[in-house]
Amino acid sequence: MPLDPYDYVRIQAQLDFQCQRCGICCQVADPIDIYPKDIRRLASYFNISLEETIAEYTVPHPTEPDLLAFKKSAPCRFYDQTQKGCKIYQARPMVCRCSPFLSPGQIGLLGIEVYEDCPASEESIKRIEKDLDLLLNPDAKTRKRLEKALSKMMQIE
Ligand code: SF4
Ligand code: SF4
Repeated sequence: MPLDPYDYVRIQAQLDFQCQRCGICCQVADPIDIYPKDIRRLASYFNISLEETIAEYTVPHPTEPDLLAFKKSAPCRFYDQTQKGCKIYQARPMVCRCSPFLSPGQIGLLGIEVYEDCPASEESIKRIEKDLDLLLNPDAKTRKRLEKALSKMMQIE
């Protein structure tokens, strides 16, 4: 997949991202996209079939005909209010793993969207500002490292 210069910035920002565990995204995100790999991961985690996983945990995506979405979101059914964390952290969907900088809505933007709802995102951008020139014109080694990291995070099929 050809990447735009800002994609490299986004990947590094996500790698350096330090979530503050405020739980806001888990309480407001809607819909939460579910990809085929997410279904397989959830099925394995709950030790149920793919069909049962789809029936129990998903609904048709409201805007993307080829996707599913979590059945209960805003707040997400897996958000633990007491512990302020995800009850299925190991099996959380790809969009949760990639939030905020590699969310599907960010890919292809000529710039980076900083989410006002996420208290850690602005701080994260500040952290990589000093490396911005290198990230916008990555050398071959940096490019390879970031592309590898992206492909690991974005496995959706
Ligand atoms: S699955 Fe976990 S990380 Fe994703 S929105 Fe729900 S509680 Fe948050
Ligand atoms: S809104 Fe940002 S800081 Fe808060 S839990 Fe979500 S990713 Fe972490």
